[in-house]
Amino acid sequence: MDQRFDATERFAEGAQFIAGSLRSGSSGRTQDVVDPATGETVYSYELAGEAEVDAAVEAARRAFADWGGATPGERSDTLHRFAAALTEDAGDLARAESLNCGKPIKLSEEFDVPGSIDNAAFFAGAARHLEGKAAGEYSADHTSVIRREPIGVVGSIAPWNYPLQMAAWKVLPALAAGNTIVLKPAEITPFTSLLFAQAAQRAGLPDGALNIVSGAGRDAGEHLVGHPSVAMTSFTGSTAVGKRVAEIATGTVKRLHLELGGKAPFVVFDDADLEAAVHGAVAGALINTGQDCTAATRAYVQRPLYDAFVSGVADLMATVRLGDPFDPSTDLGPLISHAQRDRVAGFVDRARAYATVVTGGEAPQGGLAKGAYYLPTLIAGAAQDSEIVQSEIFGPVLVVLPFDSDDEGIALANDTPYGLAASAWSRDVYRTGRATREINAGCVWVNDHIPIISEMPHGGAKASGFGKDMSAYSFEEYTQVKHVMYDNTAVARKDWHRTIFGDRP
Ligand code: NAD
Repeated sequence: MDQRFDATERFAEGAQFIAGSLRSGSSGRTQDVVDPATGETVYSYELAGEAEVDAAVEAARRAFADWGGATPGERSDTLHRFAAALTEDAGDLARAESLNCGKPIKLSEEFDVPGSIDNAAFFAGAARHLEGKAAGEYSADHTSVIRREPIGVVGSIAPWNYPLQMAAWKVLPALAAGNTIVLKPAEITPFTSLLFAQAAQRAGLPDGALNIVSGAGRDAGEHLVGHPSVAMTSFTGSTAVGKRVAEIATGTVKRLHLELGGKAPFVVFDDADLEAAVHGAVAGALINTGQDCTAATRAYVQRPLYDAFVSGVADLMATVRLGDPFDPSTDLGPLISHAQRDRVAGFVDRARAYATVVTGGEAPQGGLAKGAYYLPTLIAGAAQDSEIVQSEIFGPVLVVLPFDSDDEGIALANDTPYGLAASAWSRDVYRTGRATREINAGCVWVNDHIPIISEMPHGGAKASGFGKDMSAYSFEEYTQVKHVMYDNTAVARKDWHRTIFGDRP
């Protein structure tokens, strides 16, 4: 039995949560869940097949009648109780997330879990603030009313980097607006999605309103996206898979929300606070071992500060403590899997041919060698069009490039297919103001990089997708607008009929 989080005991019946109870999948394929810090299997389960997706969608379809018809106040009450249930479960959620993903326990306890609880509290409030435009007589003979209605059954697909937060971001606005949901977590990270659904049930969410199908992308995922009873697909993951999801969703004309990859620029102008920029770059690049879609990945530093920035970041990276995710002093955990570690190492090894690895660039030896660890890595001297600058690496790797004019810095920041997040570092309000206007991204931070908050939207531009998570903007995405028009005349032969039949007066 694992003292940290015993998934075998908690999910003994299986890793599918359908119509209010745990059950096993029936795909005939077993998935091992591996602790990336040790390489040991901590849980095995049978993946969901099409039968589980069908059952979950049917449960959600049936639950929609009640949940979609509940008053905003009733939905809000349930979500407030949900936030309280998550607060009670905070310890388990943090331990499960750290075991499953290798996240340092301080990150799970201080970022993932409280952020998700705050999201539940935010959407409990938002449930009572659904607004349409004011009603009125836009035609003299009619009164118009705007209704914002839930869409129906939402099929959501989430990635492995923040399993709990992604579940929260997908599920909470959808429920607050009156939809019901089938969520597919990444098959290697099912734990906290299941705990999340169990907490919702304890809070009084009707059975079937939230279902979890733990299945593989190509079968359970595609079946969910193409399902005719699913009215909306909300997907977070890579741009490559997002394109495939879009193709399938188009076939059934679904509402689509895509949160895709990122390659965030970090632009340091020559009047910036160097110490702040160096600390911000290391924190921004290493959060969640770099497996963060908004992580700082490309630092552009104006020439006068370039050398000092490179040596400052390299020195600071060398102080970061890799270790057991359950040790409270560990700063950096392993990557999600050995396969992801090897993928990251592949990018860095190929870059050696055209760039300089300033620090890192290898897996640590000794006690950590059996885990999926990789040292914080800084790369300099790469060309703007090289793979290491253009591709999403999703590991603890920062690339640094110099620039001369402000025009050049902003142009380089915009020069990738992605547009999820960016930051600008300067003490000059006009320079940062220009950067916030001209960098094409869903979020631009000024003199910081990473913080998020429930009230503010998160979502991308360009190949980073469209649609927003968190905030009132995401809440509205999970609704459809209906125009209702009342005749005010009570006249059988209405004046406008003459344009169709009969004579003009
Ligand atoms: P991924 O695209 O490989 O998988 C994401 C999800 O899609 C998983 O649940 C997977 O099982 C499923 N999937 C895979 N193939 C599928 C298919 N053919 N049809 C339907 N579903 C399928 O991504 P990942 O490796 O799990 O996560 C990392 C990626 O997620 C990175 O690109 C990262 O930038 C992105 N991400 C984006 C955001 C954002 O808000 N924009 C947030 C977190 C992660």
